[in-house]
Amino acid sequence: MDFAVMYHYVRPRSGWNGIFPLLPEEFEKQIDLISKTHNIVHLDELNKKSVKPQCVLTFDDGTRDQYVYAYDILKKKGIPAYFTVMSGPMLTGIIPVFHLVHVILSFKTDEEIWELLSSRYDVSNVEEESSIYHYEPNRLRRFNKYVLNFMLSQSESREVLESIFKTIFPDSLSFIKNFYLNVGDLKEMSQSGMAIGVHCHHHAPYNGNPHEFYKNEIMPCKAFLKETLGINSQWYTPAFGGGKMHERMRNEITPILRENGFRKGFTVNPGLMNGNDGFWIDRIDCVQLPPSRSSSINTVIEQYTTNV
Ligand SMILES: [Zn+2]
Repeated sequence: MDFAVMYHYVRPRSGWNGIFPLLPEEFEKQIDLISKTHNIVHLDELNKKSVKPQCVLTFDDGTRDQYVYAYDILKKKGIPAYFTVMSGPMLTGIIPVFHLVHVILSFKTDEEIWELLSSRYDVSNVEEESSIYHYEPNRLRRFNKYVLNFMLSQSESREVLESIFKTIFPDSLSFIKNFYLNVGDLKEMSQSGMAIGVHCHHHAPYNGNPHEFYKNEIMPCKAFLKETLGINSQWYTPAFGGGKMHERMRNEITPILRENGFRKGFTVNPGLMNGNDGFWIDRIDCVQLPPSRSSSINTVIEQYTTNV
């Protein structure tokens, strides 16, 4: 069975305690294992016949670790992959809230963050409400994540996060240069046969207005890829898989995407590539595959086959 793998950070931890990266050596092991049973192909090759089943490697969020570590390994092995771009930070200097959360959780202690949040906001119900983060063993981290991601409005959260972020990285533009793929990286990756697609502009979830969403979140990124790389990107991976309204998003935005030259989109729903006819392709998160999991690639695939 054909499948697509979803990657986010591929990097050593080196101080980044607020994220769960796949380590570069794990990434390398994983693609070696996949290569034994599957052909890892470029998105353009999806419809071509191949002896082995096919696999596509997909990268979300356009962070620079993907160039430094993952692309470096792929280049050496001559394996193609699909990388997506978030154009907002580079073009507007605005870092999305979820990345600010990653930075702050990595470089401030949970005690420091909690002290600030609990002094500013009414956090009396946080103990019960933060249970959505039950998998998080550290109590204060659980509280911090809940307050920043759920309790506060986007603008409240951004305000407090930016005030903390400034104390860690006073020069946000140089942070953006180091944290996100830059034009030079993208040119090199594109020229060496990597597929480059649209992730988003500001990493907003779908808002229920397809034309406005296309104009604000998709078009600026597509235009950026056209201007800087000269490519008409045909691939789209929505931020947060579309968010809470992802089903609605797929119904409403697919015709607009097709009109604008897009050929495929990728979801965050776990699953295999069931034929290549549809627009949307489900993916398997890299942490579900060995070496993160001890089972073999085929055992994991079988689980998805029986679930379908
Ligand atoms: Zn994303």
